[in-house]
Amino acid sequence: VSARNVAVLGATGSIGTSALDVIARHPQRLRASVLAAGSNVAALVELCRQHRPDHAVIADSRGLQALADGLRDAGLKTQPHSGDDALDALVSGDACDTVVAAIVGAAGLPSTLAAARAGKRILLANKESLVLAGELLMQAAQEGGATIVPVDSEHNAIFQCLPDAHAHQGLRRILLTASGGPFRGRARAELTQVTPEQAVAHPKWSMGPKISVDSATLMNKGLEVIEAHHLFGVDGDRIQVLVHPQSLVHSLVEFVDGSTIAQLGLPDMRTALAVGFSWPERIESGVAGLDLLAHGRLDFEPPDLQAFPCLRLAFEALAAGGTAPAVLNAANEVAVSAFLQRRIGFLAIPALVEDTLAALPSTPATSLAALREADAQARHHAGQAVATGAAGARA
Ligand code: NDP
Ligand code: MG
Repeated sequence: VSARNVAVLGATGSIGTSALDVIARHPQRLRASVLAAGSNVAALVELCRQHRPDHAVIADSRGLQALADGLRDAGLKTQPHSGDDALDALVSGDACDTVVAAIVGAAGLPSTLAAARAGKRILLANKESLVLAGELLMQAAQEGGATIVPVDSEHNAIFQCLPDAHAHQGLRRILLTASGGPFRGRARAELTQVTPEQAVAHPKWSMGPKISVDSATLMNKGLEVIEAHHLFGVDGDRIQVLVHPQSLVHSLVEFVDGSTIAQLGLPDMRTALAVGFSWPERIESGVAGLDLLAHGRLDFEPPDLQAFPCLRLAFEALAAGGTAPAVLNAANEVAVSAFLQRRIGFLAIPALVEDTLAALPSTPATSLAALREADAQARHHAGQAVATGAAGARA
């Protein structure tokens, strides 16, 4: 068998580099054929040196010349590209058969959709694309014949626990675990002064800045509830969130007969990525097995929705349906970016999201255009609130 040709989108990020680590362990089986990043040309060129892909794509066109120069100076045959259209064409064409969708935020939607339409195997990390356009993306994957293997650790765990359609039939509910983030156990009043540095210092996982802040607000778990709804066809009332501080049980499924099945492992994304590359087979990921005696105990507690309202807002947006999840996601992206730039406080993140959801009531999301419009309106509304210090941004 020939090796899988893998396009790693978001190659310079936390998931991208973990994916490349797994790929490099299996030269007979896996090959990085396309590497794509946002604007960090130097890091992209360095990855091209190590992995020698056929194509390298920088989203920001201002980086194209530097990318071309860097590849030439390194003596590489890798072809330089820039822009969304080039990325979509590479993802859709013969350059790859497998796509690691690990761009952060709604920016990952076009390439993930292109991979779905073109029938690729998609290792889906970019949860925002499912939150924004879950129905359209799942439909595109079905019509295009694509295989989506979720690599978000919780969804990868559920995927492993639900091997086939028979299992889906007997499924009663999904138990989604959450680490609780760096501020677990704090009351709302203790969160007013927290800084970006404290928010991104996750106790168990090493991740990019956006998802780290999402973990601190519990919006990450909210996005994951919506993600699970689309991936596994389960409504919000059949998804329970459990705070599990050890982050060893990555999620569980409960069947109608009373069985509960879990997937466990060390908190290292390479396990989920290895599953994504090899499923239904298994390959080495570089991650050690779990020494349960060394860990000793597994704790579970309910989430605190007073201190972390983002999780409640996500359940509400899922129940409202239509454009509400797209609005939730866009307002959250604006709020997280403003928080990381120290323009708003930590508690302003849920306040801004709630304010934006109230200002833009849900309408039916029948087309990609309608969802993009809702996304744009929510970004505009939340951006104005940040700029003017309006209601939500003062919290
Ligand atoms: P990082 O911030 O570490 O990396 C983001 C990547 O996206 C970088 O390679 C960045 O390139 C690239 N990028 C940003 N904007 C664009 C764009 N417009 N076009 C192309 N590429 C772009 O994020 P993570 O790796 O942590 O997260 C990636 C995704 O995976 C997110 O959706 C996250 O929710 C999800 N995820 C992450 C987990 C983790 O453990 N990190 C776990 C589960 C899910 P550049 O370096 O040039 O800016
Ligand atoms: Mg996760």
